[in-house]
Amino acid sequence: MRSVKSTNTKPEERFAAAIEPLALEFTRNPADIPGKPDFYFASIGVAVFIHGCFWHGHDKCRRGVVRPKANAEFWNAKIEKNRRRDRRVARLLRNQGIAVYTVWECRFRGKVPPKRVLNELIDRSRSVLSRAESIRAETS
Ligand SMILES: [Zn+2]
Repeated sequence: MRSVKSTNTKPEERFAAAIEPLALEFTRNPADIPGKPDFYFASIGVAVFIHGCFWHGHDKCRRGVVRPKANAEFWNAKIEKNRRRDRRVARLLRNQGIAVYTVWECRFRGKVPPKRVLNELIDRSRSVLSRAESIRAETS
């Protein structure tokens, strides 16, 4: 699967710095996990994708909505293809019991402090843990 963005882009580095206090082990772009998430936390079952707003069509910010005037059709098709793939990958991961946490690039442009992203990640992992516990309870 071809990646639309290079690895080790700036937002990913900032995310890595933000989660450092958690002291959670993670792998970056693991080949054996669907979609090769930017960060994968095996111990808490969370896959994190840092999405560029333009390439992944973030519908909540200007950069994700505005298209270049030239070749608008080409860009629309390309971005729609990325969005479809993102949804497919998210489904695959959820089916494997892995929570998906998408971090939009615009959140690292001073709008949302990294600490809040951190809290969301922890919340996400909690929901996975409680879901795992309820599955355990059902099967025991
Ligand atoms: Zn955005």
